[in-house]
Amino acid sequence: MAASLHAGPKLARGMIGQTREVIALCRKFCDEVVRPRALEIDKKLHEDPDYLDWDFVKKANDWGFYTMWLPKAMGGGGYNFSSLSYAMEEIGSVCLAMANLIGVHYLGFGTLTASGNMRIMQKLCRETVLGRKNGDPCLITLAITEPGAGTDVEEVDLVDKAKLGCFAKRVEGGYIVNGSKVFISNGHLSKWHMLITYTDLKKPSESAVMMSIPNGLKGFSFGRHEKKMGQRACPASELLFDDCFVPDEYVALDNRVKQKFSRSQKEMTQQMIDYVVSPSRAAVGAFGTGAARGAYEAAFKFASETVVDGELYVNHEWVQSWLAEMHKNVTLSRLVYTETNYANSLWGLYKDLHFEPMFSIMRRTPAFLSQKLFGSFLGKPGATEFMRERMFNDQSVCHQCRTSGLASAAKFTGTDYGVKNCQMALMLMGGAGVRQDRGAEKILRDAKLLQIYEGTNQLNRLNLFKCLIACGCKDACVFEEKEGGAA
Ligand SMILES: Cc1cc2nc3c(=O)[nH]c(=O)nc-3n(C[C@H](O)[C@H](O)[C@H](O)COP(=O)(O)OP(=O)(O)OC[C@H]3O[C@@H](n4cnc5c(N)ncnc54)[C@H](O)[C@@H]3O)c2cc1C
Repeated sequence: MAASLHAGPKLARGMIGQTREVIALCRKFCDEVVRPRALEIDKKLHEDPDYLDWDFVKKANDWGFYTMWLPKAMGGGGYNFSSLSYAMEEIGSVCLAMANLIGVHYLGFGTLTASGNMRIMQKLCRETVLGRKNGDPCLITLAITEPGAGTDVEEVDLVDKAKLGCFAKRVEGGYIVNGSKVFISNGHLSKWHMLITYTDLKKPSESAVMMSIPNGLKGFSFGRHEKKMGQRACPASELLFDDCFVPDEYVALDNRVKQKFSRSQKEMTQQMIDYVVSPSRAAVGAFGTGAARGAYEAAFKFASETVVDGELYVNHEWVQSWLAEMHKNVTLSRLVYTETNYANSLWGLYKDLHFEPMFSIMRRTPAFLSQKLFGSFLGKPGATEFMRERMFNDQSVCHQCRTSGLASAAKFTGTDYGVKNCQMALMLMGGAGVRQDRGAEKILRDAKLLQIYEGTNQLNRLNLFKCLIACGCKDACVFEEKEGGAA
C-alpha cells in the first residue's frame, strides 16, 4: 500500500502550515538572492573555476538556511524535514548549484544523524548555530566517494569489489587515516566533513567507520576542485588524508558500536547507508523536479512572448501539447518525492517526528525551553544509546526496503524528468534555448549532474528492483555475480 495512505491520515496538521511557510521564504530568497546572481556566478566560474561563492553562503547563512532544519533542542529552527525537499525544489527551480550549496549541508548532517551519535550532533549543531549568529557559516559535507569507487560505495553488495584506497588504522585513542576522497560537494566551503572510511579494505562492507573531520586537523587538507559542466557554484572538492590522526572524540560510528546490535556488520552498514540516502535521494528527486519546473517555466515564458508564423507560439497545438507533457513531468516528480517523504516519516530517519504528539511538543515548546529541557541530556551517553536503539533495532528489514526503494524511485524519476524537460525546453526554444543569457542551457548542464550523484540512476533502478521487486521471484538475483560472468 502507498506510504501516503498509511501516513496521510496520521500526519500532524501543523506540517502543512510549516511547509507553506518554508516555500514562501524560499520564493522570497530566490527573488532577492538567487535569481539576480545565478547566471552571473555561473559565467564567473566558467572564467575562474576556482572561485568560491562565499557571498552566497553568507547570505544563505544570514537567512537561516543552514540552521532551519536542525533540531530545536540543539538550537536549530526545528522545521520538519519533509519541507526541506520542497525548499530544494523551489531554489532548484531557479539555480540547482545554489540549492545544492544549502542541501549538501543537510546531507552531511543527515549522515551524522544516521550514526545516532548525539554528542557529536550536538557539538556540530552548536557550532552551526553559533556560525549563524556570528555571520561565520559552519557547513558540513559527506565524504564517501573515492577516485576508484563511486557507485560501489553506496551498496554493500558492491563495495567489497570496489577499488578503495582510503583506509583507517585503529591505534590507541583513535584512528590514523590515509587516502583521499573526491567530488565532495561544498568541501572547500565547509568546516566539518563526515568521512566514511574502512578498517579492512578487503571487507569494507563489514568495517565501515564514520568520523567527523574538522578543518585544520593535522594530516587533513584540501586538494583540487573538479572542473564540472554544471552546478559550477557548488565546488566538488578533493579531501586528502596523510597520516591523519582522528581521536575517538570525533568517531561517530565504528564496529565497536555496531557489534552490540543483533544485525551483522554488513547489514548495519547497509542500514546506515539507507538512513543517509533515503532522505537525500528524495531531496535530489526534488532538485530534479526543480530542474523540470525551471525548464518548463523558461519554455512557457518563451512561448508566451514569441510569435511564430504570425501566431503566438503558445497557440500552436504542438507547443501546447509539449507544455502539457512538461507540466505532467513536474507533477509526477513531485508526487514521487512526496511519497518518499511519507515513507521516511513512517519508517526512516524522521520516524515519529512528523506525527502527534511529537510534532506539536517540538513545535510548541519555545526554543530556549527545548534546549534547557533536552539540551543537557543530549550530550550524555544515554541519549546516544536511546537513539541507536530506536534507529538500528526498531526498523524492520521490510520497512528499510520500502523506504530505500521509494527513495531510489524519487531520485531517478525526478532527475530523469528534470533532464527530459530541459531537452524539451531547448527544442521548443530553438536557438534562444542554447543562448547563455536565456538560462535554459544552464539548467540542462546543471540537471545532467543530478543523474549521477546520490548513486547513478542505473544503480538506483537496480536498488528499486532489489528492494521492491526481487522478493516476488525466488530466483531473482541482483548485485550478485552470475555464473560465467566477467571475473
Ligand atoms: C556534482 C557531483 C557532486 C558529488 N557530490 C558528492 C559528495 O558530496 N560526496 C560524495 O561522497 N560523493 C559525491 N559525488 C560522487 C557521486 O556520488 C559519484 O560520482 C557517483 O556515485 C558515481 O560514481 P562514479 O562517478 O565513480 O561512477 P562509476 O561508479 O565509475 O560508474 C560509471 C558507470 O557505471 C555504472 N555502474 C557502476 N557499477 C555498476 C553496477 N554494479 N551495475 C550496473 N552499472 C554500474 C554506473 O551507473 C555509471 O553509469 C558527487 C558527484 C558529482 C558528479
